[in-house]
Amino acid sequence: MNQESIKIPQATAKRLPLYYRFLKNLSASGKQRVSSAELSEAVKVDSATIRRDFSYFGALGKKGYGYNVNYLLSFFSKALDQDEVTKVALIGVGNLGTAFLNYNFLKNNNTKIHVAFDIDEKKVGTHIGDVPVYHLDELEKRLLQDEIQVAILTVPANVAQPITDRLVKAEVKGILNFTPARLNVPSSIRIHHIDLAVELQSLVYFLKNFPMTDENDTEPSQEAVKSE
Ligand code: ATP
Repeated sequence: MNQESIKIPQATAKRLPLYYRFLKNLSASGKQRVSSAELSEAVKVDSATIRRDFSYFGALGKKGYGYNVNYLLSFFSKALDQDEVTKVALIGVGNLGTAFLNYNFLKNNNTKIHVAFDIDEKKVGTHIGDVPVYHLDELEKRLLQDEIQVAILTVPANVAQPITDRLVKAEVKGILNFTPARLNVPSSIRIHHIDLAVELQSLVYFLKNFPMTDENDTEPSQEAVKSE
């Protein structure tokens, strides 16, 4: 993400893709302006947070007018480097990994799973979606050759750390960890941890213990992606 000229808080940065996706749809439908209340309703972030987020990059909504959709869109597009597709590797072509390979991330996003790795001989050598599956033995070679610096981990938890160590050696900078394992990495590597079982359990807990009312803050709906 190119944020050299504008320093924005990490929490704001995480919401940018959300804003971007909604604004893109608005622009495609020919809408030229949007109020923070409309945005708030659509992306489920409260309007005060949206106004604060937007103020970081100089987008000040005008009273009774709202925000200019195309101005915001061109800002987000630059900030998120939408012109450049980031290549991603996936390790572990099980049920979850296969679902990701079949999912077209490019639809809303600027990322593409470029290669996948597994150790199961039945999977190695096949294509899923249009993604080739290689043996894990080829991990370092392929990542370095294709300059891939982002990886998705969908392997069993007990092999997550040794594979992570190899990813770090192969110059990967970011890992999306879907395993329950807590990973140790040098401080220069970024890990986002998504434990689907824990998230589901936490949702059910909140439903039981904190029933939603209209006054509730809508922020928790954005809690699914956490960085470690
Ligand atoms: P499946 O039904 O295909 O086994 P799963 O998601 O229930 O899927 P897991 O045991 O979580 O299965 O394994 C996920 C994938 O990770 C499998 O395809 C498995 O072959 C692969 N895998 C296991 N160990 C490794 C490893 N050391 N390196 C790379 N891939 C591995």
